[in-house]
Amino acid sequence: MEESRKPRTALFAGSFNPFTRGHLRIVERGLGIADRVVLAVGYNINKHPDRDPALMAEEIDRRLREIEKAVEKLNPEGGEKRVTVESYTGLTADFARETGASFLLRGIRSVADFEYERNLADVNLKVLGIDTVILCAEPEYSYISSSVVRELDANGYDTSPLLP
Ligand code: ADP
Repeated sequence: MEESRKPRTALFAGSFNPFTRGHLRIVERGLGIADRVVLAVGYNINKHPDRDPALMAEEIDRRLREIEKAVEKLNPEGGEKRVTVESYTGLTADFARETGASFLLRGIRSVADFEYERNLADVNLKVLGIDTVILCAEPEYSYISSSVVRELDANGYDTSPLLP
């Protein structure tokens, strides 16, 4: 008989600027290994001293609403939400503790991503005491990145195939 256990929460944190189909796929797969996924948009006003804090807050709000729309279909109708969307500032590991997350969820597309993510995962485990589960992108998602979307958008291309 299965023992009752505490629901397992994964924290998927990132900039999500914008949230892409690649990110959505990581959330979907994350629900296969966790009971809940907290999607968190991280930002640091101090890193952008040149920007108006009010405008930045507005932009983050807009991003949260877009992400909420994109994950709506992953939540059971009328039931308890399995995916929630939040913003945070400060260290991801601290926010993970605040939300009661068991582990951090991240994705990789390439060897370059792997090197970056491994370093981040090492710091989060060794220094901050939280583990990371890293999912490898399936080939059909591995070319999708927020920066490609921004670049295409800035040059007038249709980015809808890359977005949820
Ligand atoms: P950050 O600014 O923290 O790197 P991003 O929003 O760029 O945040 O990405 C968040 C996470 O999603 C990172 O782990 C990144 O590697 C992963 N990711 C981004 N795009 C994809 C994709 N197409 N497939 C799988 N993982 C992805």
